[in-house]
Amino acid sequence: MLLCFPCGCNPLAGILHPNCLVMEASLGIQMDEPMAFSPQRDRSQAEGSLKKNEQNFKLAGVKKDIEKLYEAVPQLGNVFKIKDKIGEGTFSSVYLATAQLQVGPEEKIALKHLIPTSHPVRIAAELQCLTVAGGQDNVMGVKYCFRKNDHVVIAMPYLEHESFLDILNSLSFQEVREYMFNLFKALKRIHQFGIVHRDVKPSNFLYNRRLKKYALVDFGLAQGTHDTKIELLKFVQSEAQQERCSQNKSHIITGNKIPLSGPVPKELDQQSTTKASVKRPYTNAQIQIKQGKDGKLMKQSKTVDVLSRKLATKKKAISAKVMNSGVMRKTASSCPASLTCDCYATDKVCSICLSRRQQVAPRAGTPGFRAPEVLTKCPNQTTAIDMWSAGVIFLSLLSGRYPFYKASDDLTALAQIMTIRGSRETIQAAKTFGKSILCSKEVPAQDLRKLCERLRGMDSNTPKLTSDIQGPASHQPAVSEKTDHKASRLTQTPPGQYSGNSFKKGDSNSCGYCFDEYTTNLEGWNEVPDEAYDLLDKLLDLNPASRITAEEALLHPFFKDMSL
Ligand code: ADP
Ligand code: MG
Repeated sequence: MLLCFPCGCNPLAGILHPNCLVMEASLGIQMDEPMAFSPQRDRSQAEGSLKKNEQNFKLAGVKKDIEKLYEAVPQLGNVFKIKDKIGEGTFSSVYLATAQLQVGPEEKIALKHLIPTSHPVRIAAELQCLTVAGGQDNVMGVKYCFRKNDHVVIAMPYLEHESFLDILNSLSFQEVREYMFNLFKALKRIHQFGIVHRDVKPSNFLYNRRLKKYALVDFGLAQGTHDTKIELLKFVQSEAQQERCSQNKSHIITGNKIPLSGPVPKELDQQSTTKASVKRPYTNAQIQIKQGKDGKLMKQSKTVDVLSRKLATKKKAISAKVMNSGVMRKTASSCPASLTCDCYATDKVCSICLSRRQQVAPRAGTPGFRAPEVLTKCPNQTTAIDMWSAGVIFLSLLSGRYPFYKASDDLTALAQIMTIRGSRETIQAAKTFGKSILCSKEVPAQDLRKLCERLRGMDSNTPKLTSDIQGPASHQPAVSEKTDHKASRLTQTPPGQYSGNSFKKGDSNSCGYCFDEYTTNLEGWNEVPDEAYDLLDKLLDLNPASRITAEEALLHPFFKDMSL
């Protein structure tokens, strides 16, 4: 069946969306000749033409976007030949271009076109992070910046890179070591400048396997530490600050929108997996956030198991609440602090509590990579949040699963962390940063080595691939809202071929390097040293105050023979 992409109308049945007809005509795209429906028609042929059509429409879309970009910023045309679109997020589109910048061969350039509604200070701060901290130690630099009206394009050196998911299971253990080492190098660099990246994840850490080149990109969410050396980060408001600000101003400013209200929270730009919404009642863990009555941590009279009561049929459910422990600032509440209620430490949220102002704290980023202090809205966040995210990447590399956590909201994400790091441990750590978590069920911390080996399909007793997990299945999250909260019960993927050790020639690779991205690589995996799990444990330290820093991580015994 020939389906029209993207609207799905069916030209064979004579149904073609009017817009598609217009598109087809204006773009000169040749749709397949309508033909009588034939049940004998080779299915693969039909699928092939469907794919071709999709590709045609995609190409046409990209072509249009490139034309629009030339129109919006005409000076680009004097310098660059824009070839392709290589990335598209909520806040930018990234293009591959070539340019004859100096004598010699053409250079490849990445052009990042920021959405015109971005806050000017935000744009300038992103650019300053790249210009001041970038260009060395695996931090992406910048070549030029173009602006026409509200359109801004940042021109950076292009780094051809791999898709993390494609190569995850074909990486040798040594490559994983190098990857992490280079990530810490980049993090050390930006942290020295007082930059908190806030969105550390594989798609923001470019990796060229063949050239062994790495680059941390995307400072679109970065914030400054209190002593940041990036001047403009001092003026970048977090979502929380903006919210606080607008809450404070709301009773003063009437009818006027604040013009520089900042970008849409980037958390909308989640990894695609987080968009898959699974209804909360079916999650295996539930948490509610509620502020403490009067801001005081009260003696808990009871802990209510919300889920096991409400969803008696759902086993292994965890429910929890996160509350602020300690005295809350009066201003954080929109209803008088003197108003008391009876719902504290119960599974209900009364109307008095509902009218209290929610606690706001920075929480931009991608849920599966957010540190516990971000998930629990701790207002004092530091560079340690990037180290947690690096830990989640390391967890993916060691377990062969990406994304590791798949949660559609922060509370589920927190419950998922508990299933790996333990509920008691999480509750205890949260206390150190002023949060009280109520959890209906106790879940133990998992042994990281056992967990990773099981997920990777390596049995520690028999150091070879024993299970049926292999590369292409690595896209299945290790912990999702559908899976049992115990990683030991993870669904395993259907049997696949194990084609032996190390690299094989393959025809698809983005860096022109000949290896089979889908071939599970056992090189070094049968003797993962304890140091690896020790480092992982220190990265996934639930307490940000004791979590390992990038500088310390580089000196960790795991990297003993590697030099900066
Ligand atoms: P966004 O804010 O939209 O996430 P990013 O800066 O993360 O924008 O870029 C999006 C994608 O574009 C990246 O994941 C990467 O694939 C590609 N990209 C960005 N910068 C470069 C670059 N300098 N070289 C090659 N590819 C890049
Ligand atoms: Mg990005």
